Amino acid sequence: MKNKLLVPFIGGIAVAVLLIVALPKLYNTEVEAKTTNSKNQWSPTKAYPEREVYFPGTEELAPDEIRVLSCGSGMPMPRLKQAAACFLIELGNGEKFIFDLGTGSFTTLYALGMPLDYMTKIFLSHQHADHMGDLPTFFIYGMQNGRSKPLEVWGPGGGGMPESWGTKSAVAGIMQFYNWMLETSKGALDTRSLQINVHEFDWSKINNVIYDQDGVVIRTIPAIHLEGSVSFILEWKGMKIAFSGDTLANQWWTEYAKGADLAIHECFLTNESFVTKYKFQPEEAIYVSTLVHTTAPVFGKIMSITQPKLAVAYHFQNDPETLPDVVSAVRETYDGPVDFAVDGMVWNVTKEGIRTRVSMLNTQPYPPPSVNERQQAAPGGEKYETPEWILQGYEWETIPVMDKVYKDFNEEFGTNFQFPLQKKESK
Ligand SMILES: [Zn+2]
Ligand SMILES: [Zn+2]
Repeated sequence: MKNKLLVPFIGGIAVAVLLIVALPKLYNTEVEAKTTNSKNQWSPTKAYPEREVYFPGTEELAPDEIRVLSCGSGMPMPRLKQAAACFLIELGNGEKFIFDLGTGSFTTLYALGMPLDYMTKIFLSHQHADHMGDLPTFFIYGMQNGRSKPLEVWGPGGGGMPESWGTKSAVAGIMQFYNWMLETSKGALDTRSLQINVHEFDWSKINNVIYDQDGVVIRTIPAIHLEGSVSFILEWKGMKIAFSGDTLANQWWTEYAKGADLAIHECFLTNESFVTKYKFQPEEAIYVSTLVHTTAPVFGKIMSITQPKLAVAYHFQNDPETLPDVVSAVRETYDGPVDFAVDGMVWNVTKEGIRTRVSMLNTQPYPPPSVNERQQAAPGGEKYETPEWILQGYEWETIPVMDKVYKDFNEEFGTNFQFPLQKKESK
């Protein structure tokens, strides 16, 4: 009887010892740039010396550090837990770049509580909505949320495509789409943000420099994804971040993304999950996963050739019931370090290593203060006026209430505003 109890007891101790010895190792293999052995710095009243999760806005970037945040890691139809493609890249020199702005991803960018004037440089890998679908929303709501500058958008065009398929044409379409909203906002809100400057590049060029400022170089290589698609490679201070967008396995990627610190590449669900979970017909599943996208075992092979410091797989529904199959499929062909991205996953990249965490995002953000002083109307802009006849439909019985609203406001803010609407006597 004693022995029977002793065996699990000794077994338990062995497991505990193993965990204590093995856990830090496991943790360390996937990198470790910033954690310290801070056993003695913990206090019941002070901020913890280190945190396993990332709270946006609480962490300084070192001058030689890159932080990459997944704002969208999933499929085209955004879900509560996973928006479509979007990665925010922040450099220690203060520069920030958004690689793709897929459907649903804007909410995570907004949740960061970061002034929108810091997030004006957007790079689109191609024009599927899961890679640019939130651009119109991100653009139009700058004026209400403190952005005082136009957006700068880099996107593909040329390379044998019709002009109307290029990024310039798409952005002109956004302006047309919002014509009413743009015109009726004039003079009422800060409209300096209501402009998109397009930097269209030839998608077919190989290792083409499309951005070169302050030591940051961003190049494109063609992606094999219909036509007009690219992958991006950002280099800064000897570090390299590669982002595939959507692509089949391709030689430009393995050549130019080789040895990247962080290699973010699409990785699709297994075909079985596509049929059972995504409800595709088998012929649709095999077409999409092999002729439009990179299926999981092929992702693994690509990373075996690319040999990044850390591979990141994205563009699939990362759920408890799908992930094991994706991991097994990738592990058939790749035994290096890899993260299977979820939204809010964050990577701190330095030359010493990469640290992976998840973020705690604010689910109820308000606009951060403007970096530049807010102004109601763009300088020299005209002011929109609502037609008088529709204003005359106002319910005049609410005037006493409105008068009190104005009185309270003027008292609180030291102003002297008057409600401007007045009833005109009908003939
Ligand atoms: Zn696509
Ligand atoms: Zn896609």
